[in-house]
Amino acid sequence: MIKSCGAFITRCMKILIIGSGGREHALAWKIAQSPLVDEVFSAPGNPGMDKIGPCFDLDPTDLHAVQELALQITPDLIIIGPEGPLAAGASDALRARGFDVFGPSQKATQLESSKGFAKDLMQKYGVPTAAYGRFTDLTPALDFLETMTAPYVIKADGLAAGKGVVIAQTLDEAENAVEEMMTGKFGDASAEIVIEEFMTGEEASVFVMTDGEGAIYLPVAQDHKRVGDGDTGPNTGGMGAYAPAAVVDARTLELVQALIVEPMLSGMAEDGMPYQGVLYVGIMVTPDGPKVVEFNARFGDPECQVLMSGLPGDIVPALLVCATGGLVSSHAALCEMMGLSDFEPSAVVVMAANGYPGQVEKGSVIKGVDKANEIDGVTVFQAGTDVNAANELVASGGRVLGVTATGLSLKTAIETAYKGVEAIDWPDGFYRKDIGRRALK
Ligand code: AMP
Repeated sequence: MIKSCGAFITRCMKILIIGSGGREHALAWKIAQSPLVDEVFSAPGNPGMDKIGPCFDLDPTDLHAVQELALQITPDLIIIGPEGPLAAGASDALRARGFDVFGPSQKATQLESSKGFAKDLMQKYGVPTAAYGRFTDLTPALDFLETMTAPYVIKADGLAAGKGVVIAQTLDEAENAVEEMMTGKFGDASAEIVIEEFMTGEEASVFVMTDGEGAIYLPVAQDHKRVGDGDTGPNTGGMGAYAPAAVVDARTLELVQALIVEPMLSGMAEDGMPYQGVLYVGIMVTPDGPKVVEFNARFGDPECQVLMSGLPGDIVPALLVCATGGLVSSHAALCEMMGLSDFEPSAVVVMAANGYPGQVEKGSVIKGVDKANEIDGVTVFQAGTDVNAANELVASGGRVLGVTATGLSLKTAIETAYKGVEAIDWPDGFYRKDIGRRALK
């Protein structure tokens, strides 16, 4: 069957999503609503994604298994959610088999998988970021620290599940962090480290969908990294988020576009590693303008949950064009199809298992997800969930549910998300009570 959607004519599509978190559940949920899509497959998926379409159990970093599954399903588009398979080269492996893939190549994913690589590229293209040094040996690293002032920022070069950054208040603490990292705290990921200047300001996440040339800017989101209310306690993968975030005004966004995104995309294309997929630009809005804190090579999670909930239109044509090229000429039509200018304020409250981000118990029963979903505006995305022998939903990870809500205002969206949280009966979980607090001030 052929269906038309504005300027785009495409078959009823089969889409495969790689991943199993709240981000991938939100993508599957959004994509399944597209009139262009017939079937949504997930690998490995989760119990929430299983209600949308078939899930296939595999290790998403096992490139052979991912290729075999794609050959079996023959999807029209494959979306790779998490950084692990991207860093392992899943996009390249799938493109080599002729599939259209939304997700950067292994080379381009180094923007996330090597902080030193990202810093070097920013320096080369003149992109504003903190001054830094890269080290593989202890003595020069310690000498460099002496030239810096507190607070000290020490980062493992490689992927460390969001835990590889230490902000040390004293030189002693900083030296300890450097020694710990370089003696194997994060294994290979911290064999090399980056030490950088501390930046002050408000943080925000800018998400750009790109085919390597054109760029669609999604609404700015702000997440809540610390585990406790009032931004206290250790860093986590993210305890909640909201969008749009007013911290980035139109002028700042123009600067992000002109000084950060455009030079990165054109530089990488010229250097033979065009960036295709979603570029997550973590910025610090400093008194000297926006500066890059980090790049990620995929949607943030939980930010993806608020972005997918708040977009009223169809995201599939944009995903497809980013994967295949031609974004510059179709930019306006794609933004309109997504309903970008009618984005609804959206918030997500993450429910995590007691103990997170440390050790957590698995297997506690979660009730009330359906009840929460019945509340007008609420959608519960699942992450660390499983189903037990009695067919009950149980916790199987740290971050377990993303209770997301849209509303006419951010205030309503946040209040509605908390109504959703109250409908969930899970004594073994906890959540932050102040998601969106900064936005409402
Ligand atoms: P990253 O994984 O690089 O995003 O770092 C994690 C968190 O550490 C960021 O979200 C910031 O809150 C903080 N951070 C990282 N680099 C810096 C920096 N140069 N100055 C201040 N804070 C930073």
